[in-house]
Amino acid sequence: MSTESVLRIVWIYPDLLSTYGDRGNMLILAHRAALRGIPAQTYEVRSDQPMPATADIYLIGGGEDGPQALAAQRLIADGGVHRAVGQGAAVLAICAGYQLFGHSFFAKGAKFAGLGLLDLDSDRGETRAVGELRGEIDPRLGLPALTGFENHGGRTHLGPDVSPLARVSAGIGNDGQTEGAWHGKILGTYSHGPALARNPAIADLLLRWAIGADSLAPVDDTWAEALRAERLTAASV
Ligand code: GLN
Repeated sequence: MSTESVLRIVWIYPDLLSTYGDRGNMLILAHRAALRGIPAQTYEVRSDQPMPATADIYLIGGGEDGPQALAAQRLIADGGVHRAVGQGAAVLAICAGYQLFGHSFFAKGAKFAGLGLLDLDSDRGETRAVGELRGEIDPRLGLPALTGFENHGGRTHLGPDVSPLARVSAGIGNDGQTEGAWHGKILGTYSHGPALARNPAIADLLLRWAIGADSLAPVDDTWAEALRAERLTAASV
């Protein structure tokens, strides 16, 4: 993004993938950009529309198995997200969206190809993972603890080309040990809630990745900190 241009944020397929308040991630990103005087424009790209490849940040949410499989098929056929990632776009992928960024996932008992943009595969667990999720984020990212709400049947197995986003301290995440994954400027997590309202430091990480900044001006996070304290305590009970 050049200094005089607008930060472009795309929400991928809101008609298919949007559960547990994932739309809030787009609102939080645009708000936190505006607080820093960064002009931001949001775009909601439905599954019957071509996916632009020139935005700065792409967001994809969670969803049921059927819409997840359809979203993967349409994104593979479209190719826009692959081009955008190839051009250095930042991505936040939640739950079903996270799974479909991997090589493969299971939906409705069948195996589907994912986008292959994260080195991971998802299969099904014996139980559904439902409830509060908490983890200690990869120290290289320099972020405070992850908090979220998870609800998924899938379990995710990471390959050597991704790093776990966090070590699980409450909940299941990928497999009861690790939660989420990141590689380059792509970050995936099982955290709903929405994730960026509960983890504003991740919103700021995505903004920094998108504009190429080492730091951003601090903002008043009184309410976000109160929410985090309440949810992190709830997860440890
Ligand atoms: N359908 C996927 C699963 O059950 C993802 C669910 C979700 O996005 N909440 O694992």
